[in-house]
Amino acid sequence: MSESTDRPPSDELPLEPETIERLAGGDRRLLARIATRIERADPAILRLRDELYRQGGQAHVIGITGPPGAGKSTLVDRMVTGYRQTGARVAVIAVDPSSPVSGGAMLGDRYRMMRHHADDGVFVRSMANRGLSGGLAPTVMGLVDLFDVAGYDPILVETVGTGQSDTAVSALADTTLLVQAPGNGDSIQTLKAGVLELGDILVVNKSDLAGANELARDLRAMVALGPEGRFWTSKVVSVSAANGDQLGDLLDLVAAHREILAREPARTDRRRSRAVNAIASMVKAELDERMRRTPSLGDAALIDDVANRRRSPGDVARRVLGEI
Ligand code: GDP
Repeated sequence: MSESTDRPPSDELPLEPETIERLAGGDRRLLARIATRIERADPAILRLRDELYRQGGQAHVIGITGPPGAGKSTLVDRMVTGYRQTGARVAVIAVDPSSPVSGGAMLGDRYRMMRHHADDGVFVRSMANRGLSGGLAPTVMGLVDLFDVAGYDPILVETVGTGQSDTAVSALADTTLLVQAPGNGDSIQTLKAGVLELGDILVVNKSDLAGANELARDLRAMVALGPEGRFWTSKVVSVSAANGDQLGDLLDLVAAHREILAREPARTDRRRSRAVNAIASMVKAELDERMRRTPSLGDAALIDDVANRRRSPGDVARRVLGEI
């Protein structure tokens, strides 16, 4: 995570076969440099990204999402410890939407304090939601492939549950944990049916606090009301990330979900929908970028016309589409 040791993007990268070999061989410095380039959407590594994708697909990607304060970071920290005890090498990608272009400083600081910082078997990357040139989902996908090829498994992707960006990120996880905690606002009320479906495992954190049992019971009731999944129906598990209670149960559930996904046809189904999602999010990011560069959107007089209702947004939208 030490950005300062990264060289400028003009710096040449070694040729692909060697790059992949060095990554797989555990070159953390190279890993950090490529991660930075992926975050900057450096066009010089497009071919490398394609190659990483082709070589990837081994690691289990676990998405961890939920409202701020639910205990996601604390839980991720615990999970990393749990996986390290099995000898696995673990990567963490933490996306912090609250932080502007500065690079997720707060989250970054929190992670720097993590006890895993000095552990060579753990690689942590935190980044801001905004200010990612290539779009959030494509950037995270690129990082996932990178860590995958570098031998990290599982890869934990932590995002704050704020809708859109969050949905895009959970679509790239194999297993999604939706973390809730008692006293964290009207959790149940805010859990719309659609959001609930995003959680393969619904984690009730802070089981040491009052209200946790009720929350778990309500979630179970919601799951029972919903449709039965083809391969998997959402499971509810209570944990205390703070003191590690029931962490083993959670890891067992994640392992069970992974096992089911490894079976055909669950695997084929998931892979197809992920492929579509990957393609679509890249097209969207590219269109977004091109749209921002169109002459019409940079034309102050034209924008004024729309603002003052002399022209319709639809009229200008058609022009913009033509320019794209
Ligand atoms: P995030 O915003 O979802 O990443 O939440 P954090 O991991 O930063 O945790 C928010 C607060 O909840 C912190 O003060 C944690 O110490 C606390 N916390 C996390 N897990 C637990 C838990 O299991 N029990 C209790 N009592 N507090 C917890």
